[in-house]
Amino acid sequence: MNENIYVTRSALPPYEEFIEAVKPLWDSRWLTNMGRYHKELEEQLRTYLKVPGLSLMVNGHMSLEMAIQSFHFPEGAEVITTPFTFISTTHAIVRNRLKPVFCDIKYSDGTIDESQIEDLITERTVAVVPVHVYGNICNVEAIADIAYRYGLKVIYDAAHAFGVEYQGRGIGSFGDASIFSFHATKIYHTIEGGAVAFNDPSVYDRLYTLKNFGIQGEELVTGVGANAKMNEFQAIMGICNLKYLPRTISERKVRYDFYKEYLGGTEGIRFFERNEKACNNYAYLPILIEDAYGSSRDELYLRLRENGVYARKYFYPLTSDQVCFKNKYRGAALNQSRSISRQVMVLPLYEDLELESIKKIIHIIKRK
Ligand SMILES: *Cc1c(COP(=O)(O)O)cnc(C)c1O
Repeated sequence: MNENIYVTRSALPPYEEFIEAVKPLWDSRWLTNMGRYHKELEEQLRTYLKVPGLSLMVNGHMSLEMAIQSFHFPEGAEVITTPFTFISTTHAIVRNRLKPVFCDIKYSDGTIDESQIEDLITERTVAVVPVHVYGNICNVEAIADIAYRYGLKVIYDAAHAFGVEYQGRGIGSFGDASIFSFHATKIYHTIEGGAVAFNDPSVYDRLYTLKNFGIQGEELVTGVGANAKMNEFQAIMGICNLKYLPRTISERKVRYDFYKEYLGGTEGIRFFERNEKACNNYAYLPILIEDAYGSSRDELYLRLRENGVYARKYFYPLTSDQVCFKNKYRGAALNQSRSISRQVMVLPLYEDLELESIKKIIHIIKRK
């Protein structure tokens, strides 16, 4: 029990199973470039995620870069997004030579405050990039309505929302595109990996070309693409891990419920609200440490650390406050974003996290 406890621990399929699964590669020698397993995993994930179209990518970040690039927005155009996210979201916008415009988030669940989006729209606005942060889903209806009225594209950062459904629909089927991350630290992974989900079938061909250097034919390059292809080893890891995902999720649920039962009602500890029409994937357990708790988030964070518990301040600082972006872009007052990012902390949660470890964490938080 004296081992350190980290915020997550990567899931892995049984070793023998993965080794058996990669064996055929020693015969085919087809290791990457949209091979057999790339195709198989795309099909499996299309079904699992309940999305009409899906394109695999080398990672979540490139999924977002490629998804944004596929819409050919004019250079310098504005994209409304939130700063309460992983730095990747803002980087993907800026690396596409677009300007992020920061919108505030909601107190209730940390997602974009849809009531403030319209005030930020100008004639230069082309898209909205909201984040389903911790798998809490954005107000997809209100965002669709605004996007329709102003002719904007909606590209969701759904990196945290793998497998989340809203009213029985795959979360990746909302908006013009949604990106997922399959990084080793995410609930479902391909070591590194990601995907773009979309409804319009023509997006598939655009992404296929973009992720492969813009190459259209042996002697024809039509776009300034990148190399964002998922290789066959990654795809096989994804096929293996997908089989065990239901177990991963149910084991996480047990631990999530345990935390909530024993931490719920602790003065000054708040949980985000969850939309009742959306299922939870139990990817993260964020808590908010409010004034009534009596000590600050940072104090609690250090106290946990002294006891070998490595909780994480996801997401602090705001991306808009990082030196590469600070004071460069327009935006609303970010009052909720600022206060939430000062209060939030993500607690350790993974499928083989021992209940004894959770009890220890709860004791530290409750100062027992
Ligand atoms: C993990 C993550 C990404 C980036 O995904 P990678 O697979 O690590 O490149 C993007 N956005 C959010 C919100 C993330 O958590």
